[in-house]
Amino acid sequence: MVNLIPPPDAVMQILKRTGAFREGHFVYPSGKHTPHYFQMPLAFRYYDTARVLAVALSRKFRLEKEISSQLPKVAIISPSSGGIPVAFGVREALNAEQIYWAEQEGSRRTFRQYITPGEVNPCIIVDDIIRSGHAIEETVSLVKELGASIIGCGAIVRFTTAPEEIEGVPVKSLIDFEAKFYDTGDQCAECKEGTKEEHVRY
Ligand SMILES: [Zn+2]
Repeated sequence: MVNLIPPPDAVMQILKRTGAFREGHFVYPSGKHTPHYFQMPLAFRYYDTARVLAVALSRKFRLEKEISSQLPKVAIISPSSGGIPVAFGVREALNAEQIYWAEQEGSRRTFRQYITPGEVNPCIIVDDIIRSGHAIEETVSLVKELGASIIGCGAIVRFTTAPEEIEGVPVKSLIDFEAKFYDTGDQCAECKEGTKEEHVRY
């Protein structure tokens, strides 16, 4: 079982190589400045890379007895479109029975599929990246409304500012990243150095 889960620096190499992680000087639409930028779908456009990342995350789930004992009667849930490739990869690796994904519709998150309460297996919620944890928390509420339990939660990258556990379930990740943000340019180290800024969308 040694080395089946790549260490964080190996995962970071994959994200850098695919352009999913970049360092520099970035400004978000909110006006916040940051020296790093994650665009996770760039790592998932290569099937082999997507598979390595999803299989690695699935192994963290399989190590949990609460999860391995319930397979294959498990549902993999993505809070948004970004998590769909992760959800499909984890589903395949775990041979889980169901897969669902939610979407943002106006101001609220809803499931894309029509779901009958009571038909959803115990759930593992997965995403490509967990920044604040809000998307996961909203998805947890949706899942509970459907009467399903949450037995796992995780992402390829988790910002250390996001919760470490949700509903008593530990949040698994391949990388725990200490994100740096400045509310305005006045406080930004890259601005002080005079580095050219790039405007990005979230
Ligand atoms: Zn700046």
